[in-house]
Amino acid sequence: MRVAMIGTGYVGLVSGACFSEFGTSVICVDRDAEKIARLQGGEIPIYEPGLEDLVAQNVGAGRLSFTTDLASAVSGADAVFIAVGTPSRRGDGHADLSYVFGAAEEVARALPAAGDHFTCIVTKSTVPVGTGRQVAEVLARVRPDLVLGRDYDVASNPEFLREGSAIEDFMRPDRVVIGVESEAARACLKGLYRPLYLNETPVLSTRLETAELIKYAANAFLAVKITFINEIADLCERVGGDVQQVARGIGLDGRIGAKFLHAGPGYGGSCFPKDTLALVRTAQEAAAPLRIVETTVEVNEARKVAMAGRVVDFLGGDPAAAGDSLAGKTVGLLGLTFKPNTDDMREAPSLAIVPRLQAAGARVRAYDPEGMAEAKKLLEGVVWCSDPYEVAEGVDCLVLVTEWNAFRNLDLARLKATMARPALVDLRNVYDPDRLQQAGFQYLGVGRGEAA
Ligand code: NAD
Repeated sequence: MRVAMIGTGYVGLVSGACFSEFGTSVICVDRDAEKIARLQGGEIPIYEPGLEDLVAQNVGAGRLSFTTDLASAVSGADAVFIAVGTPSRRGDGHADLSYVFGAAEEVARALPAAGDHFTCIVTKSTVPVGTGRQVAEVLARVRPDLVLGRDYDVASNPEFLREGSAIEDFMRPDRVVIGVESEAARACLKGLYRPLYLNETPVLSTRLETAELIKYAANAFLAVKITFINEIADLCERVGGDVQQVARGIGLDGRIGAKFLHAGPGYGGSCFPKDTLALVRTAQEAAAPLRIVETTVEVNEARKVAMAGRVVDFLGGDPAAAGDSLAGKTVGLLGLTFKPNTDDMREAPSLAIVPRLQAAGARVRAYDPEGMAEAKKLLEGVVWCSDPYEVAEGVDCLVLVTEWNAFRNLDLARLKATMARPALVDLRNVYDPDRLQQAGFQYLGVGRGEAA
C-alpha cells in the first residue's frame, strides 16, 4: 500500500510516521516549504515525544519521505489522507474548510487517468458533517473524466490522537472510526489499519456522516466533562469541599470514569475550542441546538478570564476595576502551553491570563519547557526566563498554569529565597496545600474549599 498524507502538522506528521512504522510506504506533503525542508533535513518542526526517533527510523528504512510536490505524492497512492487544518472561521465559529477543499482540488487534479488506478481519498481532518460528500462533489467537478467507485472513492477517518501522547494514541487507539460508502474504501482503510488488529483495536465502520459526527460528539462530550468538574470546583470553593476528592469519588463510578475530571483553568488547545463551536453552529443550523455544548463554550471562555481575576484578587488587586490595581506587582507564570508535552499554544488559557494581568498593571515573567518559541509570537511585554527559578526572582506570586513534570517537584526553599513574597496560585492542583503552607507559602488551588 502507498499513502500520501496531505498536511504535515501534528496529525499528518504523526499519522504518516505511524503508518510507515506499520510497514506502509508514506509520502508526507505540505505546502509550507520551510517545514518540508526541515523535515528533509531530519528536523522535527513540532515538539511531540518520540516523534524524532520514529521519523528517523522510517526515513532510514526508506518508507517515509517528505515533499511539497502534492501531484507526485498522489499519483500512484492507494490512499490519500487530507490532514490539513480546519480552524474556526473568523466571525461565525463555523469550521473554515478552505484548506480541506483546496487540498481536495489539488488531489483531484493529480489523480491518475481514468481506468488506471483506484484511489481512496480520506478526510482525516476534523470536518463538519456533510463535508465528505462535499469533497466528493469537488472531485466530481474537477475530474469529470473519473468514475466514483471505480477510479476513486471518498472516506472519513477522524483522528483521536492527543498532542503529547500522539504516537501511543495512534498505535494503541481506543477505536478506529472509518466512514465509508463502498466496500473498496472499507477494504482500503481496513488494510491500512490491519496491524492494529493485533491489539484487538475495535474498528467501527459507519457511513460518512456518522463518522464525521462521532469526532465532534467525542470532543464535545470531553469538553462538557471538563467544564462540569470546573463548575463543581467553583461550588467546592463556595461551600467547602475538595474537588480532587469529589472527582475521585465520582470517577470511580464506572459509568462516569476518572479521566477528564481534573479541575483547572479551562480547556484550550487546537481542537476543543474550535470543535465545540463548530458543532454548536452545525446543530443550530440543523434546528437541533445542542444547548449543553453552547453553555460549555460560554462557561469555558468565561473561566479563562476568571483565572486572571483569581490571580488579581489573590494579589490584593480588584479584578472588577479597570486600571492598574496590580501596579508595582510582578507575577511569574510556570507553563504557557495548553497542556504539558506539547509546544502548541493555540487557545491556551495563558493567552487570556497574561494580557489581563498586564492590563491590571502587573509585570509578567514566564517560562515554558517547549512552548516559548510559539508563545513569543503571541504574547508581548513578557520577561522570558530560562527555568522556573529564574521566573521566581522577585515575583509577588507564581502561577502554575501548565502541569509540566518539570514543575511538579520544585525546590520550595530555593523559590522562597528568591521571591518577593512566597505565594503560589496553582491552577492545576499539582501541589499539596498543607505542604506549601508548611513551607511558608500562601497557596491557592482550584476547588479546594476545605483547604482554603
Ligand atoms: P496543523 O495546523 O498543525 O497542520 C496542518 C498542515 O496542513 C500545515 O502544516 C499546513 O501547511 C498544511 N496544509 C494546509 N493546506 C495544505 C495543502 N493544500 N497542501 C498541503 N499542505 C497543506 O493542524 P493539525 O493540528 O495537524 O490538525 C489537522 C486536522 O486534524 C484539523 O482538522 C484538526 O482539528 C484535526 N485534529 C487535530 C488534533 C491535534 O491534536 N492537533 C487531533 C485530532 C484531530
